[in-house]
Amino acid sequence: MKLYNTASREVETFKPIHNKTVTLYTCGPTVYDETHIGHMRKYTMDDILKRTLKYVGYEVEHVMNITDVGHLSGDDDSGEDKLEKGAKKSGKTVWDVAKYYTDKFFETMDALNIIRPDKVVKATDHIKQMIDLVKRLEAKHLTYATDEAIYFDITKFPSYGSLSGQKLEEKKQAARGEIHIDPNKKHPADFALWFKRVGRFKDHSMHWDSPWEDGFPGWHIECSAMSMAYLGETIDIHTGGIDHIPVHHENEIAQSEAATGNKFVRFWVHHAFLNVDGEKMSKSKGNYYTLEDLKKHNIDPLAIRYLFLQTHYRQEMNFTWEAAEAAQETLEKIKNIVLDLRLSKITSPQNQSPNVNLFNDFKLQFSKSLSQDLNTSEALAVMWNMLKSKLSSSKKMELLYDFDEVFGLALKDIKKGKIPKELIELANQRIEARKAKNFKKSDELRKQIEEKGYIVEDTDGGYRIKKK
Ligand code: AMP
Ligand code: ZN
Repeated sequence: MKLYNTASREVETFKPIHNKTVTLYTCGPTVYDETHIGHMRKYTMDDILKRTLKYVGYEVEHVMNITDVGHLSGDDDSGEDKLEKGAKKSGKTVWDVAKYYTDKFFETMDALNIIRPDKVVKATDHIKQMIDLVKRLEAKHLTYATDEAIYFDITKFPSYGSLSGQKLEEKKQAARGEIHIDPNKKHPADFALWFKRVGRFKDHSMHWDSPWEDGFPGWHIECSAMSMAYLGETIDIHTGGIDHIPVHHENEIAQSEAATGNKFVRFWVHHAFLNVDGEKMSKSKGNYYTLEDLKKHNIDPLAIRYLFLQTHYRQEMNFTWEAAEAAQETLEKIKNIVLDLRLSKITSPQNQSPNVNLFNDFKLQFSKSLSQDLNTSEALAVMWNMLKSKLSSSKKMELLYDFDEVFGLALKDIKKGKIPKELIELANQRIEARKAKNFKKSDELRKQIEEKGYIVEDTDGGYRIKKK
């Protein structure tokens, strides 16, 4: 299995540390606002990664966090806590806001047939682990306190910036636009591990006791603390959107590796954005569409899943309703193919040769495409070629279901429009009439079938019957 690693900027051969089990950590949502199609893309492509790892024979231990505290509107410690902002906007408590949007997030994930992580962990349930990690950093003299916060001193972590390739000088410039700058912060890119409930945060509603006064954790520390708590100090794969590279993930690496002395993550996987009109779809810009919008447009969320599969996860994609509608049509086509294959599997004798080589060849091509840094569009092309091939219906069906272990279009769940027994009898009589070369009778029977709203088609040695 080959996977692009942001850390090395290369496609590398992936092997887990522990033999057969891959440890996977996903940066989860900040639950202060709606889940939109941008999130759908990101978490679908995580799901494709996870399903591919399983397909090629690994087990996956998957942890995802829910950020319900500490994520400020600027990733660089500037601005307001997003949850507090959400609460103010809606007039609810931060806890209610978090619960409401977490539920909506999972409703969307379920609609997309995304396999739930083995563990979903909330930041507010892990304050102790975060405090312990900050204490470890403090014991190593890697932190300092100001009146406002406890900071990680990035100058004590010489490789800081290596994930994004940004120099510290550039960081200084990037941070100059901050709305609020703690005057006692030593370096603009030093980041808060713990915010004290003072100044701009004096009314912060989520707060906990700590060795550094009452307050709340910074955003970055949660992912390090929870990843270590559930998956160990070094994990195989950590994923996130590309916006996480320069600050959030850089900070996760610094605080984790400085605390443990071990490598934090072996493979960093980052997803490109989904845009609308050339701009990132985002909660803050308000240019987003949700699950409800899909319903309004009569778009099945699984059609959106198909749409995502057409673009490589490291390539930006632009969302349009035309593209969503085209994906919907294609999904309908696939559903009909599934129904046809199921029927012809039942009604036609399997007289085609199983063609073992062709079968294995398609399976190999499919797994090769995905093993090549998740080339999903090529894997789709393998599927379409396979469906056009000479393979028997039952083998096509078998492969389609097999491929769907990764695609996740829930093809096994497609409801067959049940064919009434009476229709099957008419179709059988028609076949008998044809065998006896009684074409007049066979035509009459076809008409009768059609009058009842069904179509009968002849196949190699059998027939297939479906709703008009
Ligand atoms: P958030 O809840 O905004 O922190 O986002 C959760 C995850 O979704 C992060 O990994 C983001 O990078 C990702 N994300 C947010 N917006 C988009 C988008 N438009 N396209 C792709 N990924 C996104
Ligand atoms: Zn994170």
